[in-house]
Amino acid sequence: MHKLLNTPLLRKESYIGGEWWRGESTLAVHCPATGETIETVWDFDREAATAAVRSAELALPMWRDKTAKERAHILRTWHDEIIRHTEELALILTAEQGKPLAEARAEILYGASYIEWFAEEAKRIYGDVIAPPNNDRRVLVLKQPVGVVAAITPWNFPSAMLARKLAPALAAGCTFVCKPAAETPLSALALAVLAEKAGVPAGVFNVVVSSRAREVGEVFTGDAAVRKLSFTGSTPVGKLLAAQCAQTVKKVSLELGGNAPFIVFDDADIDRAVAGAIASKYRNAGQTCICTNRILVQDAVYDKFIEKYCARVAELKIGSGFEDGVDLGPMITADAVGKVARLVGEACAAGGRILIGGKRGNGNGNFYLPTVLEVAAESPICREEIFGPVSPVIRFVNDQEAVSIANDTPYGLAAYMYSRDLGRIWRVAEQLEYGMVGINESGISNEMAPFGGVKESGIGREGSKYGLDDYLETKYLCMGIS
Ligand code: ADP
Repeated sequence: MHKLLNTPLLRKESYIGGEWWRGESTLAVHCPATGETIETVWDFDREAATAAVRSAELALPMWRDKTAKERAHILRTWHDEIIRHTEELALILTAEQGKPLAEARAEILYGASYIEWFAEEAKRIYGDVIAPPNNDRRVLVLKQPVGVVAAITPWNFPSAMLARKLAPALAAGCTFVCKPAAETPLSALALAVLAEKAGVPAGVFNVVVSSRAREVGEVFTGDAAVRKLSFTGSTPVGKLLAAQCAQTVKKVSLELGGNAPFIVFDDADIDRAVAGAIASKYRNAGQTCICTNRILVQDAVYDKFIEKYCARVAELKIGSGFEDGVDLGPMITADAVGKVARLVGEACAAGGRILIGGKRGNGNGNFYLPTVLEVAAESPICREEIFGPVSPVIRFVNDQEAVSIANDTPYGLAAYMYSRDLGRIWRVAEQLEYGMVGINESGISNEMAPFGGVKESGIGREGSKYGLDDYLETKYLCMGIS
């Protein structure tokens, strides 16, 4: 065990039906900065996943029938426990995921903000009374929880992606089962420790750790008691899970891959654009679904932008997330580094030019150096979600060309644009086929705003006043009164 992790929040057991389960086989969790094993946790299968669904099903009537205020109080208490344990949660997160400790603390607070927000929103679920077609009846609409919700979450934000799903689900009156990514199960288990402490009743929140993702996914998508699946991860897995859910016609929320364009127009504040692009590209070592994937810079400011951007990239400090002043941690696995190296190789073979970086880091960890590449819009690296610290930069001439390059992808999650011309901002923002557009701002994600994508980037929205809808059914009551 890592010496910094001497905390009761570190668990090896899965949390099912309010009990801490021990299994028969185990799964090692590695530190991506050093390769060392941080902890060995119990590894579960189909049976445990099924048991978790049964527990959630059993707990549903009790949780659904609590008043909104009671549910809100429990969520608020859970939020407060998370805030109280921010430091321990952040240490666990950095240890298993690799991100710099400052980013880990920010992720814990960000995740907690969703629990706080939905604790508040729980009390604002409204039905409707509609004008009837005849006076002998009344037309009413109720909002009710969808039922048991299953969630499958990724390793890039192992705490916050879970919080973003469990918070609206529990607020709405749904019970919840989840499978965290096998690379990063410790953050999810730590949240379960605090759920128990906060008084979340047994069976309402369940965590099943498993290296057999497909097997658990089949249970979550195949069991008729599960009425909704919420998934964050890659587009191919999202498509597969959506297809599996079709068999029992479950609701699905999918938060999938992106290919975010970052457009710098010739009237932009270049320093602001550089700072925005650095934050958006290199946060979490480039491993976020809303990370800038392509930087489009207008001809007249291209050289100036490149000079300033490369100078900032050269200053980024790479190292273990536990080191002071580190900007960029390791990537999650050696395979992830291999994928980035392949994409850079393909971009160069297609005529791309490396301006800075372009190679792996030294030592044992999964490091790739922050990289800037000049490429053409058709370069293979512009077609894939890079998910690593590489900035392909493309030159463009006019607004129409920028919009057409930006939209030339099956993805549609986040886009960014920098300009000071209000007319141009409106025109381009409306034409971008994306669920979220950052305008002179790259820190777009917060609990009060609707996060989500269009096209193959997903279905549904997380956070905001819209975020509860995905967890509610609309029931129509027609009441005869004559
Ligand atoms: P990433 O590239 O971020 O690892 P994945 O989509 O592979 O994205 O993983 C996101 C989550 O989906 C993880 O929890 C992973 O274990 C899970 N997962 C991967 N493949 C499957 C599958 N076939 N069925 C169910 N879950 C899966």
